[in-house]
Amino acid sequence: MSENAFLPFVDEASAGGGGTPERPSSHHQPPSWQVLVVDDDADVHESTAYALRHLEIAGRQLELLHAYSSVEGLELLKSAPDVAVILLDVVMETEHAGLAMVDRIRNELGLHNTRIILRTGQPGQAPEIETIRQYDINDYKMKSELTRAKLYATLTGAIRSFDQLRRLEASRRGLEQIVAASHQLIAEQGLQTFAEGVIIQIASLLGVDPEGLVCASIGSAGPGEPEQSFIVIAAAGPYRHLIQRQLSAIDNPEIVQSLTECLAQRRTQIHEHSLTLYFGGDEERAFAAYIASSTPLQHLDEELLEVFCTNISLCAANVMLVDRLRDHAFVDRMLGIPNRTALIQHLDERIRDQTPDPGLVLGMVDVDQFAETNDMFGHRYGDLLLKAIARRLTESLSSRCYIARVAGNTFAIVGHAGVVSPEELCPLFEAPFMVESLSRRLSVSMSFVRCDEVPASDGSEWLKDASIAMKRAKAAGQGRIEYYTPALGADSKERTLLLHGLQRAFEHDRLFLVYQPQVSLETGAVLGLEALLRWRSEDGSLVPPDRFIPVAERSGLIVSLGTWVLRSALYDLHRLHQAGYGQLRMAVNVSAVQFGQPDFLHTLDQALADKAVTADRLELEVTESVAIVGMERVATLMREIRSRRVAVAIDDFGTGFSSLSYLDCLPADRLKIDRAFVNLLETDRPGARIARMIVPLGHQLGMKVLAEGVETESQARLLREMGCDEAQGYLYGRPMPLPDLFSWLQTHAPRPQQP
Ligand code: C2E
Ligand code: MG
Ligand code: MG
Repeated sequence: MSENAFLPFVDEASAGGGGTPERPSSHHQPPSWQVLVVDDDADVHESTAYALRHLEIAGRQLELLHAYSSVEGLELLKSAPDVAVILLDVVMETEHAGLAMVDRIRNELGLHNTRIILRTGQPGQAPEIETIRQYDINDYKMKSELTRAKLYATLTGAIRSFDQLRRLEASRRGLEQIVAASHQLIAEQGLQTFAEGVIIQIASLLGVDPEGLVCASIGSAGPGEPEQSFIVIAAAGPYRHLIQRQLSAIDNPEIVQSLTECLAQRRTQIHEHSLTLYFGGDEERAFAAYIASSTPLQHLDEELLEVFCTNISLCAANVMLVDRLRDHAFVDRMLGIPNRTALIQHLDERIRDQTPDPGLVLGMVDVDQFAETNDMFGHRYGDLLLKAIARRLTESLSSRCYIARVAGNTFAIVGHAGVVSPEELCPLFEAPFMVESLSRRLSVSMSFVRCDEVPASDGSEWLKDASIAMKRAKAAGQGRIEYYTPALGADSKERTLLLHGLQRAFEHDRLFLVYQPQVSLETGAVLGLEALLRWRSEDGSLVPPDRFIPVAERSGLIVSLGTWVLRSALYDLHRLHQAGYGQLRMAVNVSAVQFGQPDFLHTLDQALADKAVTADRLELEVTESVAIVGMERVATLMREIRSRRVAVAIDDFGTGFSSLSYLDCLPADRLKIDRAFVNLLETDRPGARIARMIVPLGHQLGMKVLAEGVETESQARLLREMGCDEAQGYLYGRPMPLPDLFSWLQTHAPRPQQP
């Protein structure tokens, strides 16, 4: 142990007491007290030595040092700073040599603990009281008082106070070191760095080499779980190889035993060549440090050790708290993988470190129809499914990629193009996932951003790009893959602008409805109207619905917009009915997104009730895109709608139905042949024959057939010949605002019946 270690003193009375650390008995001889005699009279030296022979004070022997002048005395003290007491003659070389020496002992040599007893030949040489106080002189004796008993009593008192002063000083130094250590440790980030710091700090307190290890519990043992286990979180010196090892797996029985006992008994263990400190605090988070020493450890100041341990425990609690807060901010709590914030930070670092690494790719994987899975099997199942996906991704990719969860059912993977590619990622989803003994195959959509080709000033831009590409992939259906391109980005920017404009227009009533007549091909009678939405932008121009409807659908705005259309159309229909056109029905377009809303039927019922229109005058137009909601659900919804006597039309028929068998499942009232086919009627292009087939098909399925976009008489004639029931198109009337419709009806429809 080094000379200036602060712990080499121990209060004998406390050793081995209850609750104090264990200590094996030590056979080492305690050091003796050094007593320096300074006197120019050789007789005094001799008589002092004689008087003190064989004496022990506080269990230790005395060792006499001799100096015959103040100069010699000071020289000697320089090499023996541990002198406990100086018996000092007042008059030597000069009348005040003794007092001058006291001054230099205190102020030059800085020895404040050493006790000084002045001795004079005559009472007249006694120093002033003031001088005694100023120099911290402890006693003043006549040389004649140097009897054995008196000297013994005087020395015992002086040595006791020397010992106490030295302890106090050691404690103070120790406390200072502890405070400094705490300051140092509190600044450490992360438990491991902290634990490494603990080893260094303990070693420095003990004055030994930093060789040891710190063991911490890894979580608490829950019910049914094996006992709380401990692992080595930091290690230094020859123990370095033990890091991350389980305590029980360490191949050194002495260390295992010391640590196990320390942790089980929750107290510090002191052995001759090692010290095992217990750091309690939070019970779940107990940890212990084992420090080895090549020289015997003895006489440790246990109170200071305790203060040290308490301090370190408090620091550890802080470090763990900060760790936990960091975890909260950067780790997905459910899956235990980095979250969106962490991913952005990771990408930021890659941008900062080097201009994008060649071949760096950000991939995004999104589980298709996850919301439906959650609805169907419950959230617990959904959570387990996500965990299974995270596990598979981590197991197969984590050595080569950075994996994060960026949204509910969306994962991000950052890595080299060779790994983050559809070729590598798709196979990961081929095998089914086992969750609660249910085996389930998953469909996922993927998007990719080639980071070295797409400039970004921060990570969140790449993430946004990946999301844009993902949206595109999702819009195309399930299991699609999309790479981000700048064109896609520009597209998305434009759509964002469009959406904001649409929102503003909706809020400021700049949206309105126009109505296009639907007529009977056989009689020419006006049977109904289709409500079509119009948006007049701020500059007065009309934005075509084909542009803004998809934007409204993607953003979800279509839901409130659609409700408004339905209610407004029914309101206008009510006015038409009141004006005598009671036979007219109203067709309203309904987007798949609206159809998918759980409260769609409620919205419908509410609108019908509020607008006082009979349900059988309303028709809802849906396109093939409703299939996205799920065929079974669509069929059920249609039945529900028709049970209210509201009709259903299948819009734009022929443009996209992938399977005719779908049609068979959908209970609809009307089939609307898309304008594209009507256009082909008079040509010999391939679609022409299809148009001809649609009419009998619709009839066979029990539906009326309506042709859209009829612009010419010859088209109308052909359709009539084909047996098509109804038509809608510029030939009969363009979509018009309500006032225009009223005048149009005046001329084209039979006179209004009187209400
Ligand atoms: P859609 O439901 O198939 O509506 C028929 C479209 O054909 C209308 O276009 C109409 O103006 C146009 N059209 C009608 N007759 C002719 C014709 O003889 N020649 C030509 N060239 N076009 C004709 P519009 O109004 O531009 O609407 C486009 C699409 O926007 C609609 O197709 C519909 O899918 C959607 N849409 C319009 N309003 C709404 C709405 O309120 N809600 C929803 N969800 N979609 C709507
Ligand atoms: Mg329509
Ligand atoms: Mg249509």
